[in-house]
Formats: sequence, structure tokens, C-alpha cells
Amino acid sequence: MKLTAKRIKGLVERLIGPEAVPVVDMIKDDENVSEFLISKKLKQDIQVIRNILYRLHKHDLVSYKRVKDRKKGWYIGYWTFNKRHAKILYQDMNATELERYQQRLEEELAYLNNFYLCKNMCVRMNFERAASVNFTCPECGTVLDNQNNERTVEQLKMKIKEIQAVQG
Ligand SMILES: [Zn+2]
Repeated sequence: MKLTAKRIKGLVERLIGPEAVPVVDMIKDDENVSEFLISKKLKQDIQVIRNILYRLHKHDLVSYKRVKDRKKGWYIGYWTFNKRHAKILYQDMNATELERYQQRLEEELAYLNNFYLCKNMCVRMNFERAASVNFTCPECGTVLDNQNNERTVEQLKMKIKEIQAVQG
């Protein structure tokens, strides 16, 4: 599996949040990038940048070394993106996602065309649960409609194929 820029973005967004993506973009193809340089280029306060970097570090996505600035007398962190570990985390994330989709597919297949939906979109439930509420929406009292879930099944199958393709 190749760790593309898109996959790195997806991983960072999921684990840290979208605010960390530009920070990772600045260091992922380089080594020992100064946190002050990141702060300057992204026009964000050094504390904000450091906070993001520490959160990345918690997941071992970055490593750093501290160097004392001789002129100013303070310490500057130089950061490096940990591609090898990012790849492992990405694969883990994918495996978890695959499992989740497979479980959903199993449930959808177990109740093929036997799901019930409130037309006000309050609830969606399988036959047994719908029967237990007398096919009436517990939120708004509307009678539940039987739902053809073949499209959901197809979509889940496609999603599973996509993830499996990434895993190779
Ligand atoms: Zn309802």
C-alpha cells in the first residue's frame, strides 16, 4: 500500500482533526522542520501550532528534537513526520472501518427488505425492533414504512470492495 497525500489527509483528519492537515502538509515531505517556520508560514500562533504538533506526537505521527537557539536563548522544536508509523495507523484505521462495514452488511442482509423507516426520518429499525413498537415511530407516532434496502446493500458492498482494494 502506498501512503498517498490523500490517505495521509484522511488519517490526520480522522485522528486529530482538519486543523492538523496544513501542519502535516508542511512537514510530511521534509525533515526537522522548525515549529516557528510552520507558525510563520501558516500565520498561526506558535502555541496553536505546538498544540497541534503535540497531538500528532501523541499518536506517534511526528517526532521532534529540541535545539537551543544560541542567540535568543530559547528552545525550538524541529519536527519530522513519521511516515512508517502513519502507514501502520492508516492500515489499522482501514481494518477497523472494514470490520464496521462488514458488520453493517451482515445486518442489512439478515433483514433484506425487512427494515422499517419513519417517513419523517426519526428512526430506522429492523423487523424485530419495529414489531416491538407496533410499527409505529416512537418519536413522532407515524406508522413505519417497510424499506427496500437493496441499494444500501449494494453501497455497502461497493464500500467494502474499495477498502479491500486499498489494503491490496
Ligand atoms: Zn417519526
